[in-house]
Amino acid sequence: MKLYLSADMEGISGIVDPTYINPGMENYERGRQLMTGDLNAVIEAALECGAEEIVVSDSHHTMNNILLEQLHPKAQLLCGTPRDFSMVQGLDSHFDAALFIGYHSRQGAPGVLSHTMTGVIRNMYINGQLVGEFGFNAIYAGLCGVPVCMVSGDDQIAAEAKQLIPQIQTAIVKKAVSRTAALCLSLEDSRAELRQKTKEALRNLSACAPLRTETPMQLTIEFAHTGEAEMAAIIPGSTYEPGTTRATCQVRDQYELYRTMRAMINLAATVPYV
Ligand SMILES: [Zn+2]
Repeated sequence: MKLYLSADMEGISGIVDPTYINPGMENYERGRQLMTGDLNAVIEAALECGAEEIVVSDSHHTMNNILLEQLHPKAQLLCGTPRDFSMVQGLDSHFDAALFIGYHSRQGAPGVLSHTMTGVIRNMYINGQLVGEFGFNAIYAGLCGVPVCMVSGDDQIAAEAKQLIPQIQTAIVKKAVSRTAALCLSLEDSRAELRQKTKEALRNLSACAPLRTETPMQLTIEFAHTGEAEMAAIIPGSTYEPGTTRATCQVRDQYELYRTMRAMINLAATVPYV
């Protein structure tokens, strides 16, 4: 069994606010330890279920958060930037399943540190369906033929993930109280939850099919203001929808989907707010 673990940071055990996830802030070194510990719990359980290849993709911010020194020696670590396919770089059809660890709910939804990719995105849609980072990456995985069988994070991302993939196993390591507060399980209990849900997911893998998405796809991003949408729409093939803050582009496959999204948000980020 070959597994791909995409690891974000906001949904990791014990992490509740920006001080844990931004290099240089007071809890960041703790955040890295917590992230590595959550991953080790998942990796140990996966190995017990017979996994023979595990790739961990560090998928938060600088993508250099996980402590290789402390990561389980049987896992390989993909880290650093830039990466064409960002949080799912290297995910392809040779993997049997993907697990999304430390994920968070989408922009505008309740949940610890909820957002979608960067600060410029208000809402993002694929073929008219509202998606956050979980949905975007799960659709990418599905188009590669790989099911997403497990997600970990707070209670809000668990609900968001279940809406898209009802069979998914959800390891809930904390309950959101506000966007920057949560009721956290003890590390002992959250790691037990991660191990148990990983095992359930891998033992019932056939219940979880890859997500199906019609191609070509319509990628629509709603920005904060019209200037950002107008700038995003300079990409050939993209259009600005007059009277809105949205830019839309038709893309052929998951590779164009990811590149176009990254190009749109990077262009939009060059526009000053005032
Ligand atoms: Zn993140």
